[in-house]
Amino acid sequence: MPTYRGVDGHIGNTPLIRLNKLSELTGCEILGKAEYMNPGGSVKDRAAWGIITDAEEKGLLKPGQTIVEGTAGNTGIGLTVIGAARGHKSVIVIPETQAPEKILLLRTLGAEVRPVPAKPYKDPGNYNHIARRLAEENDWFWANQFDNTANRQAHYVTTGPEIWQQTEGTVDAFVASVGTGGTLAGTTQYLKEKKPGVLSVCADPYGAAMWSWFTQGNTDTDDGDSIAEGIGQGRVTKNVEAAAVDAAYRIDDQTALTIVNQLLREEGIFVGLSSGINVGGAVRLAKERGPGQTIVTILCDSGHKYQSKLFNHAWLAENGLDPNRAIESILA
Ligand code: PMP
Repeated sequence: MPTYRGVDGHIGNTPLIRLNKLSELTGCEILGKAEYMNPGGSVKDRAAWGIITDAEEKGLLKPGQTIVEGTAGNTGIGLTVIGAARGHKSVIVIPETQAPEKILLLRTLGAEVRPVPAKPYKDPGNYNHIARRLAEENDWFWANQFDNTANRQAHYVTTGPEIWQQTEGTVDAFVASVGTGGTLAGTTQYLKEKKPGVLSVCADPYGAAMWSWFTQGNTDTDDGDSIAEGIGQGRVTKNVEAAAVDAAYRIDDQTALTIVNQLLREEGIFVGLSSGINVGGAVRLAKERGPGQTIVTILCDSGHKYQSKLFNHAWLAENGLDPNRAIESILA
């Protein structure tokens, strides 16, 4: 008898897609893990699955208990989708600066959404602190994706092994940007246990602190800004603190946008800007270390949620971004 599983049994096992043109231009195998094919549409389904499963097993999340989380959107979508399959409602606290498509999608999926003004982490009005307080006041379960290491562990037990198997152990480098750091830290830990020489590389947008953290050991961030959503971390989270990262690059929004549009128009891959930052990091590594390497990165989520911004030419022009640059410009 075959065995069948509900949707929460189908997180991960995503395809590893060869990015043909960038592979040819660099002489490396540049491979994108198609996380946008997860049931909730992003890499964050893995963290949501890991956090819910861990909390249920430890009795921290009781049957029927509501889950509350502060999120830029994708973790909220994952928690809501997997929560539905496991009998939990969700309350999502989201900065109101995030793409409106995410808020609409979360509401459609059945989450109770509370948009809040965007505030820095040190401000008590920051979305994460609001989520924590709501959990305390209402006896809800707070997922705490930034500092709950069940997030990183989900990547250690799924993303890492999948990449290892899909590349048949030939992977030379892994590149990821950081929101919570779960993807970068968990995948790095697994791959380095298998093959210590695998390079772990952080791709960071401007205005975030991970580049300076990994290259200089401080979290100074006062240089520039990015329109990328879901990444751009200003502090060292519990998930990222132990990551054995070998190199870090800053990738600008124009480079990432040029990549996103090349993937869309020439590869049939429709992704958001954090995927462009990741692939930008993979291309930088290919340029610096030369041809012949197998470089794996993450295609975090699809472009659907960003149509009013990233794929809206008037909005791009207002933000000084050009959607029609030739891909060769990023290799110059
Ligand atoms: N890309 C997008 C679009 C995201 O939403 C996130 C997570 N917020 C990431 C990348 C980064 O993933 P992680 O939290 O594992 O660092």
